[in-house]
Amino acid sequence: MSGGIPTMSPSPPPPAPSLVTDALDGALVPPRARRFFCNRTLNLRSLRAIGFDMDYTLVHYAVHAWEERAFEHARAGLAARGWPVGDWSFDPELVTRGLVLDLKLGNVVKANRFGYVTRAAHGTRLLEFDEQRRAYSRLLVDLAEPRWVFLNTLFSLSEGSLFSLGVELLDAGALPHAMGYADLYDAVKSCVDAAHVEGELKAEILAAPERYVELDPELPLALLDLKHAGRDLLLVTNSEWGYTDAMMRYVLDPALGGRSWRELFTLIIVQSRKPAFFTAKQPVFEVVDESGLLRPWIGKLRPGGAYLGGHAGLIEQGLGIAPEEILYVGDHMFADVHVSKDILRWRTALVLHELEAEIAAAESFEADQRLLARLMREKREKELRFSQVRLGLQRIEAAYGPRPQAPPERLRQLLQSLRAELVALDQQIAPLARAAGRLVNERWGPLLRAGSDKSLLARQIERYADVYTSRVSNFLVETPFEYLRAPLGQLPHDGSEPG
Ligand code: IMP
Ligand code: MG
Repeated sequence: MSGGIPTMSPSPPPPAPSLVTDALDGALVPPRARRFFCNRTLNLRSLRAIGFDMDYTLVHYAVHAWEERAFEHARAGLAARGWPVGDWSFDPELVTRGLVLDLKLGNVVKANRFGYVTRAAHGTRLLEFDEQRRAYSRLLVDLAEPRWVFLNTLFSLSEGSLFSLGVELLDAGALPHAMGYADLYDAVKSCVDAAHVEGELKAEILAAPERYVELDPELPLALLDLKHAGRDLLLVTNSEWGYTDAMMRYVLDPALGGRSWRELFTLIIVQSRKPAFFTAKQPVFEVVDESGLLRPWIGKLRPGGAYLGGHAGLIEQGLGIAPEEILYVGDHMFADVHVSKDILRWRTALVLHELEAEIAAAESFEADQRLLARLMREKREKELRFSQVRLGLQRIEAAYGPRPQAPPERLRQLLQSLRAELVALDQQIAPLARAAGRLVNERWGPLLRAGSDKSLLARQIERYADVYTSRVSNFLVETPFEYLRAPLGQLPHDGSEPG
């Protein structure tokens, strides 16, 4: 169904920022990128169970390689529908997690925490500022509307890229049937879905896991620590049994000294159909043997068992735990984190692998960022003065209210020199602001920032994820005995700087 497996592999990913151990007391001195970041206070001591998603959570994939294969399989599906997609190739930088597809205008947009669009592309072309303003100045991105599709996970990168390329074909009148951008999305989505479920793609991954999986050598120890601290570990994945078993063997078994990954988990649930797993009562089956043989299951889930389907209530019931005693850790902003928090009030952790690159980029930009902040402060002070002087001039000219003593001519000169100083400041600010907006991804900038504000993704995270972190092995740093405290939230009137 697909083109051949590429012979050139993408450049290797940067290694995890390493953990340094103090030789005497064994305590770790973690780099910032390996911490947990806390939105709502979370006492890890009070947890009784920790549930994990598998794909892109316990198992981290080489994003470029995996998504390239997903892209290729879906592209083959579109070709089979007669679409002229022969020259399409996957560009991992074209979209990022947290962007939003606009099915009405055929755009990809980045929005800030209020839903204002701060950057947009039509197909693969970034919109000029004026085009963007015309399209979006009266519009807020509201994810509850079907017009908008949020890119929730790294699995969304192939989907976003296929949509962008498809928009260009549709605009050029090159698609076999007349369709709108929403129909185009439906076609892309159904080919992506097919690639994920039809088996060929997964078979390729399983045939060469070393190419597609980025092993985290610290993961098994982190899970063992949690288990020995008395936590029940759970696995709740949308993947099917055969794939789950193979992947978990690959990432965990070599470090377990002859024992099986299954012994780590109190409950295993495959094909959970999240988010429905958190919202609806679905039937449950027991996975009877290693080959994945199933039989219907009624009643409480049995510790040590592996199941297919079911629903979150069965976990609470089976383990006899309350919602606030379970932490669910996943990478899918909606299916893993939003819904489990919203519907069940479970404690939630988002795995955001991109955080490591995001923090590294911010650290390398730190000196420039400080300069930018100082220049912006100067600009605000000068603008304040400019407006005040201008108002004084207005009062002199219209002869009302208290007026400045300086003659109008002097005030006009002052305004002129302030204006010149502001222009000079802007010349210094512009390249720095541009560079800040291109950190991490040339087109879209940092995932969690939109201009000088938080991005819509950052807002989703602060609403639904109690904590977020770059990888599961960061539990080596934030141990099961940790009390995570949310920092004091910044408000515009905090600190010395107004505005
Ligand atoms: P989880 O993250 O462990 O719950 O598993 C995600 C599963 O969903 C994997 O088996 C993926 O192949 C599959 N998946 C990811 N994205 C899509 C999609 O867009 N359509 C259908 N299946 C998907
Ligand atoms: Mg996942």
